[in-house]
Amino acid sequence: SRTLRIGLIPGDGIGKEVIPAGRRILEALPASLGLKFEFVNLQAGFETFEKTGAALPDETVQILKSDCDGALFGAVSSPTTPVKGYSSPIVALRKKLDLYANVRPVKTVFNAPKPIDMVIVRENTEDLYVKEEKTYDTPEGKVAEAIKRISQRASSRIATMAGEIALRRQKIRAAGSPSIHKGPLVTITHKSNVLSQTDGLFRATSKEALANPRFLSVAVEEQIVDSMVYKLFRQPEAYDVIVAPNLYGDILSDGAAALVGSLGLVPSANVGEGFAIGEPCHGSAPDIMGQGIANPIATLRSAALMLEFLNEEEAAAKIYAAVDANLSEGKLLSPDLGGKAKTEEVVQDILRRL
Ligand code: NAD
Ligand code: MN
Repeated sequence: SRTLRIGLIPGDGIGKEVIPAGRRILEALPASLGLKFEFVNLQAGFETFEKTGAALPDETVQILKSDCDGALFGAVSSPTTPVKGYSSPIVALRKKLDLYANVRPVKTVFNAPKPIDMVIVRENTEDLYVKEEKTYDTPEGKVAEAIKRISQRASSRIATMAGEIALRRQKIRAAGSPSIHKGPLVTITHKSNVLSQTDGLFRATSKEALANPRFLSVAVEEQIVDSMVYKLFRQPEAYDVIVAPNLYGDILSDGAAALVGSLGLVPSANVGEGFAIGEPCHGSAPDIMGQGIANPIATLRSAALMLEFLNEEEAAAKIYAAVDANLSEGKLLSPDLGGKAKTEEVVQDILRRL
């Protein structure tokens, strides 16, 4: 049997309502899996900042680094006007733990009228987000510039991860999860027709990484990002795994989340070498906090996704199946999905199916 130590970082707003649900689903996994959990409660977020002066206390980072196998992160509120000294703890965590990939599955239930089952694998350390900007004056007025940095190393490891994810998804399908996809497919996204050096390097490096013999069974295609957006909205069922540099990945993954009805359904994971943080895509939802009606499914799926990256595919598959069964039946749905169920009722229904 294996014991996993999981850091729990609820953060702000509904983060505090959904992270306990994530803990409960992990605790409710069948004993036959031989998986045990120990949980460590950790602080981060705007409330933490107001209390302690740090949005991401050093202690949180240290415990995650030295003492945890993975973590669940809820959501944090950002002040509407910039507050001195405050910056997003999740962005800082990605840097400090070198979580170089952001992975976002977007999936409807199998029997949906228009089924979708894709995952966007976004490079998370470079591209325009290195934030090397400058502004200077010219006789015609100000000019601002930003560095777009693409490296062979980062492109290669993100494409390799996309290949691994494609293989793993195929394995989970083969184990009996119904799927709209026949075989594993990775779509490389870029704009190398215009940015021949930066995106050109991403494209060439990704292709090379995916040409590795261990991805022999994975079909590889490429697509220019703007036409990709068109196809993503017209024909989303065509995608399995999408790999993209940071900026395109950010935009595509938010856009794709809109395809499935509610932010309350969409999970993500921030993944590095041997460490993963599951994180629902939604924010702290101040408009519904405290009412007990937040949809816990994004968090439950994030817990499953974290488990996938900790090599616990079977446990992950059980959570996905229980969530899908709840959604397919459609009797106990939270208000964001048009239902009347409270968070607690949704959680209990899913735990019952586990
Ligand atoms: P949001 O995701 O919090 O909410 C958008 C809308 O979706 C709201 O109407 C909300 O009620 C609804 N919603 C979100 N999650 C839901 C769930 N689980 N169940 C039911 N309904 C849900 O985005 P926002 O309103 O733009 O931002 C609110 C705060 O969250 C801001 O302070 C913002 O900075 C922060 N935020 C944080 C993250 C993060 O931590 N990763 C992401 C986005 C926004
Ligand atoms: Mn985004």
